[in-house]
Amino acid sequence: MKQEEIKVDGYEQVVKCVDGKSGLRAIIAIHDTTLGPALGGMRMWPYTKEEDALTDVLRLSRGMTYKSAVADCGLGGGKSVIIGDSRKDKTPELFMAMGEFVESLDGRYITAEDVGTSVEDMTHVYKKTKHVTGLSREVGSSGDPSPFTAHGIFLGIKVSCKEKYGSDDVEGKVIAVQGLGHVGWYICQFLAEAGAGLVVTDISAGLVGKSVKEFKADAVDADVIYDVECDVFCPCALGAIINDDTINRFKCGIIAGAANNQLHDIDMHGKMLRDRDILYAPDYVINSGGLINVSMELEPSGYNEEKSRAKISNIPKALEECYRIAKEEGISTAAAADHLAEARIAAGKKS
Ligand code: NAD
Repeated sequence: MKQEEIKVDGYEQVVKCVDGKSGLRAIIAIHDTTLGPALGGMRMWPYTKEEDALTDVLRLSRGMTYKSAVADCGLGGGKSVIIGDSRKDKTPELFMAMGEFVESLDGRYITAEDVGTSVEDMTHVYKKTKHVTGLSREVGSSGDPSPFTAHGIFLGIKVSCKEKYGSDDVEGKVIAVQGLGHVGWYICQFLAEAGAGLVVTDISAGLVGKSVKEFKADAVDADVIYDVECDVFCPCALGAIINDDTINRFKCGIIAGAANNQLHDIDMHGKMLRDRDILYAPDYVINSGGLINVSMELEPSGYNEEKSRAKISNIPKALEECYRIAKEEGISTAAAADHLAEARIAAGKKS
């Protein structure tokens, strides 16, 4: 096994991990541990160049620092990437080798499942290190984060409605939901129960049909969702959906949903939404319910769902803070979220 430090400005530690026996090639990045250990998922992706893997892990670990800071969950930001094809390169040995590398960082990096990895893969990592979250409920872990992410988003939609329309009541509001997967489905349940009208889309005809029946939703084709006249557009499928092609099509007052990295260009598209008077709920603030839930596993007394729900109910406060900063500083809400995160990290450095 070979571990090589890569020096990167602004990052506490970046480690290249190679294990000839299992064929593992990976990079772990610890961006910042000012507010706590660096938590971030273990991604497996068939990067064609090592450079691409490094770029990705640096970008993602920095994003986790910001997300954790605003979620106020006592964590820093980190991430790991395994270079490989998750459909054919996975073996228990590969994940056990990765577990040894995680263990060598002594708890400064805590991992979890991510794109290309599963709870089962994490059980192999767990054989070599305890610094793993998101295992099954049976081993005292917090389980599927999606219902918690969805709960935070429902609360975030409500506070955004209050900000934009003067009331947090979603009864009678029209919400367009893009993506009916793990998170989108739970969000539809919350919204339908609260009396909102739903317009939905998904590339899975089965999920669309089921939602029409279960939530009395109106269905539209995947590409038409951007043109739907609605109070809230709720993206729960892909990243970068707010881009040059879509930005002038939105006919909504608010964009608030689960997808990561919704803005194709954070500065430009963030400002354009502001100019169009569309209230944007910063993605990493509104979708932090899953992270908050996982962070509760690290409490000395162990995971407690009630405490987790209580903490998730602070997401609206964080959003209100972003909306306030955006107004005061005349900046986009996306930029305001970054300012809030940076202020919290700076305060952590002083104390
Ligand atoms: P998922 O894979 O379960 O669901 C995504 C859904 O989007 C699927 O049903 C898929 O068919 C649909 N979809 C894909 N392409 C589409 C298209 N072009 N148009 C319409 N629908 C399309 O994923 P998820 O766990 O529900 O997560 C949704 C988003 O939220 C992702 O961007 C994810 O990164 C983000 N997120 C998830 C969590 C969580 O707790 N699961 C937490 C934070 C952020």
